[in-house]
Amino acid sequence: MAQDVLCEVNNCTFWAKGNKCSADKIYVVSHTGDTADTSKETDCQTFESSDL
Ligand code: SF4
Repeated sequence: MAQDVLCEVNNCTFWAKGNKCSADKIYVVSHTGDTADTSKETDCQTFESSDL
């Protein structure tokens, strides 16, 4: 389990009660290339929808 990763995306397969992430590891990407200027330009690539 990833330690100290808090996440509010509660429809992710890895989301757990208390806004915890239960993935062994997560991969965070920038959607503006290899760098980002704000957190809004980053995303968790490990996300998997639990709605599907
Ligand atoms: S994998 Fe990413 S989106 Fe899913 S709970 Fe963990 S941090 Fe959140």
